[in-house]
Amino acid sequence: MGRFFALLLLPILLFGGSMKPFKWNDGESFLTFLERKKLPLSVYYNLDKEDQKLTEDIPYSANCQMMLDEKKRIRQILIPVNDELQLQIYFTPKKRYEMKVVPIVSQQYTETLYVPIKTLPYDDILKTTGSKNLASEFVKMFKGKVDFRKGFKVGDPIILVYTQKYRLGKPFSMPEVHGAMVEINGKRVTVYRHSDGRFYDEKGGQYEKFLFKAPVQRPRITSRFTKSRYHPILHRYRAHLGVDFGARPGTPILATGDGRVVFAGFSRGYGKTIKIRHSNGLTSLYAHQKSFRSGIHNGSRVKQGEVIGYVGSSGLSSGPHLHFGMYAGSSAIDPMSVMKKKIEGFTGKERKAFLAIRDKMDKVFKKALKTKPVRKPYFDFKETYYVDSETFKPKPF
Ligand SMILES: [Zn+2]
Repeated sequence: MGRFFALLLLPILLFGGSMKPFKWNDGESFLTFLERKKLPLSVYYNLDKEDQKLTEDIPYSANCQMMLDEKKRIRQILIPVNDELQLQIYFTPKKRYEMKVVPIVSQQYTETLYVPIKTLPYDDILKTTGSKNLASEFVKMFKGKVDFRKGFKVGDPIILVYTQKYRLGKPFSMPEVHGAMVEINGKRVTVYRHSDGRFYDEKGGQYEKFLFKAPVQRPRITSRFTKSRYHPILHRYRAHLGVDFGARPGTPILATGDGRVVFAGFSRGYGKTIKIRHSNGLTSLYAHQKSFRSGIHNGSRVKQGEVIGYVGSSGLSSGPHLHFGMYAGSSAIDPMSVMKKKIEGFTGKERKAFLAIRDKMDKVFKKALKTKPVRKPYFDFKETYYVDSETFKPKPF
């Protein structure tokens, strides 16, 4: 209520006129705009060539602002051309219109924000802050780390620490996110911006990225991938081009990743076998099955974690287990090498510097979880001022 009231009264109190925000009419030329506003074309022709070119760089749907005096005469128009500069058309004391390129007056705040998840983080952040840029940054930071489409509870918290510019009381330009935290069902995932400008997890990049999931629940490896192994049934050395998981007959077998079934049939060695091709070019293989899940056949699309069949000992098998293979093209690779991908982290001094940033940010997160800070409305009063064309300093209108 208070906020709404302030918005209505403020322009009138400041200069006895009114302030009208408007969006730049895409496709309209600058000269047409001047004609439509009944402004002299000289404001354009008096500019030098470089400044004239800027009028062609007014961004799509740019947020502009017009100030009218009490007699509804245009006193000033501000049109941004990028994050830094704007075109200022203004009425001079000599009662003429002139135009200059002036810096944008914006205010910058570093904020900590608590957003409870209601629908999806992107929508919730956008609704809370009005910033599409901030919402997209958040999604980018947590991509591959958290799947927000499943598993969150309404009210699970997001905490964002960021610096944002404001103009006309609205977020403006790209925010700089310093750190973010999300808690999904009690599991906390954090991301920090290091001094190199990049984002890292709490280990400073030393995280294990899981591309594929284990093909059985509570996996127990009984035999690893090797290029040379003694085979107890064939009594000779063979390669073991996969990983064996010990499991009781009938244990559900899960697709290791999203993909398409490219084989569901029988082979002498592997028995009842399913092959799934994944989008990254790898093919996974599930052998010695007792049976396939009904509905699974050549061409079926499967999701990661979906049941595709049941553990058995069909084919050349010494007992019930799942033989799990992974192929890049036609050559077998160690499935474990793609199930975990280790990423190198910081060392020495850089690690120390990162850990300091992390620990400081963790304190901010901890405090914000308790205090639940909300975004304060900011009013950029300076933008309702006249920007002095000589000094570029804002002056009261
Ligand atoms: Zn095997």
